[in-house]
Amino acid sequence: MRMRSSAGGRDLREFSFEEEAPGRCGRWRGGCSSRRWPPSSRRAPSPSRPSSNRSPGKGPRAHCWSSRTAGGYGRRWLSAATAIARWMGFSEPRFVGHMAFRGLADYAGAGGQPFEPKVNYIYGRGLRAGFVPVSPTKVYWFICFNSPIPGPKNTDAEVLKREVLELVRGWPDDLVAVMRSTPDAAVVKTPLVDRWLWPGVAPPASRSGVVLVGDAWHPMTPNLGQGACCALEDAVVLARRLAPAVLAGGDVGEAMSGYERERWGRVFPLTARAGLVGALVQWGNPVVCAVRDGVVIPRLVRLGPFLEHTNFECGLLEPVAPSP
Ligand SMILES: Cc1cc2nc3c(=O)[nH]c(=O)nc-3n(C[C@H](O)[C@H](O)[C@H](O)COP(=O)(O)OP(=O)(O)OC[C@H]3O[C@@H](n4cnc5c(N)ncnc54)[C@H](O)[C@@H]3O)c2cc1C
Repeated sequence: MRMRSSAGGRDLREFSFEEEAPGRCGRWRGGCSSRRWPPSSRRAPSPSRPSSNRSPGKGPRAHCWSSRTAGGYGRRWLSAATAIARWMGFSEPRFVGHMAFRGLADYAGAGGQPFEPKVNYIYGRGLRAGFVPVSPTKVYWFICFNSPIPGPKNTDAEVLKREVLELVRGWPDDLVAVMRSTPDAAVVKTPLVDRWLWPGVAPPASRSGVVLVGDAWHPMTPNLGQGACCALEDAVVLARRLAPAVLAGGDVGEAMSGYERERWGRVFPLTARAGLVGALVQWGNPVVCAVRDGVVIPRLVRLGPFLEHTNFECGLLEPVAPSP
């Protein structure tokens, strides 16, 4: 992982996952890439293709549709989820005062992307960006910036791309080059929102046989890179609770309540922590940014403790006997 300042691209710190947080890279941000890709991986998986995750001898673990990290979230922003959560008594997700652009640069026509398998962060004032190669031909990037209101939803791809390039004018060349290598249609703009599930205040996660998982239940800001990870963990835990109840004709409502009890302790603290981290890293005050760039990042940040939250084991889904 490499951290730089937007001012002249000065290096602030370089971390090695292997040395400081062995085994964590694959659990952070849903799996960054600390390895070289084998030639057989030349073709990036389609973001909407179902991925069947089977481990030999252990039966099916989870069958899931991979999340559309750079596409789906922004375009159909919480539409169905918001309506159902409202019906269940939840408040609207809260806009936290930050917006994000995300994109997927495509280097297929250039014979592959030229980057080391590293996560790159660049910090400015009230503005930060990052990019990471995710396949031999694709590089994912993001930029978060402060904004008092989300503003009107704009889906004009060309306008969005221009807006992004304007935000990073004068920033390190490699970041700008990644953004320029992104097809206009692969850029999305998203308001960052969350909803804190305060104990005693938040309504139950299920009602009348409907249960919430993922962002529909606990939208969190992306500052810890855990929203999609938690959505997948929810799915595994819920399936493990529901399967026996459904097969035995038991109490599905109780299974859903058990799922909520099991998951709340994981998702509430993460939502809160992600919100607090976002408030810190998005500060635009020049003195705070100077301390961050001069002291906090170079001397104080430790990768192992910082990634502690990724150390979560939600277990496997054991096969269940089919109903007669
Ligand atoms: C800038 C940014 C960066 C992020 N980075 C990370 C990261 O690094 N790691 C991480 O783990 N998470 C990250 N996240 C969070 C992650 O994207 C979400 O937590 C995750 O996508 C939630 O998954 P979900 O399945 O609950 O919801 P979604 O991914 O939103 O899926 C909901 C689906 O429902 C569909 N839908 C909506 N309405 C309807 C309807 N009426 N009918 C049918 N379908 C409908 C939508 O099209 C969508 O496909 C990031 C989020 C943002 C905004």
